[in-house]
Amino acid sequence: MPDDVRTLTMGIDLGGSKILSAVVDPQGGMLSSDESITPATKEREAIIQSILDSAQRALEKAGASILEIYAIGVGAAGISSPEAGILFSSPNLPGLRNVLLRDIIQEKLDKKTFLINDADAAALGEYHFGAAKGVDNFIYITLSTGIGGGIMIDGKIYTGAIGVAGEVGHMTIDDNGPLCNCGNRGCWETLASGTALTREAKKRIEKGARTYVLEYAGGDIEEVTPEAIHSAAQRGDGLAKELIARTGYYVGVGLANLINIFNPELIVIGGGLSNIGDMLLKPAFKVAGERAFKEAFQAVRFASAGLGGNSGVLGAAAFALQKVKEHPSR
Ligand SMILES: [Zn+2]
Repeated sequence: MPDDVRTLTMGIDLGGSKILSAVVDPQGGMLSSDESITPATKEREAIIQSILDSAQRALEKAGASILEIYAIGVGAAGISSPEAGILFSSPNLPGLRNVLLRDIIQEKLDKKTFLINDADAAALGEYHFGAAKGVDNFIYITLSTGIGGGIMIDGKIYTGAIGVAGEVGHMTIDDNGPLCNCGNRGCWETLASGTALTREAKKRIEKGARTYVLEYAGGDIEEVTPEAIHSAAQRGDGLAKELIARTGYYVGVGLANLINIFNPELIVIGGGLSNIGDMLLKPAFKVAGERAFKEAFQAVRFASAGLGGNSGVLGAAAFALQKVKEHPSR
């Protein structure tokens, strides 16, 4: 197949809150991108239609026709099998259960399509175009509403027996901890995600804690977000600083586990919550250093995701290109 700069692919990043589609060149340049809200609580047909509409708008914005696209990569949140092209389940998209998402998109858009987990896609994006360029052993984690992860071993995403590997957000940190969307208790993401941070803040506000957090949330407890808590912390708010440090502590506990299991060269940290920066990450690295094997901790570097919110869509596109190259006749 041609491999010049005009070899275009399409990446689609299907998340629980937004759909991002982009037409991408082989160097990771985005010719267009289209972001829309995921109709997360709707039926499967509505969600699929939103994906198709988003893809069409990305094509229009790039001034490209589907005929100019070599392949489509879909990075989807949830438990999936890239081999089978099935999305088994997605906790934030209850309408999508056991859906042959790859084949549906392929048929509707009449273009070879590949399915990958969204965090694995983000790891690939960082590997090809971002903070992990040239690093063959690294872990990508995204600290967001939940916690996602992608594990790169010897230059390949480790997907496990049926494609489910890398669900780092669901390693048990506290066996009696808060209930998780997955049904388990005390998963990493119930303690170290944006959701965990806001849950703790709300709890403390309801108990009457003195804090500016509510002020930054427009006076409405339902509007408390990690951003509001961060803003209050920057103003010196004691509760906000304490809760961010607590979240950072739990981020560090999980990092120590990953460091001891995988001995990675690099851990790339992305996701909206990581934008809090030092206030969150300093305590995280401190705890990781205290808990992980010294030698393994000394060998690991930490880096912020280089592609921001685009790592998933760029990685999904890179995945599609890689797959077409592996099986040009398919
Ligand atoms: Zn869980």
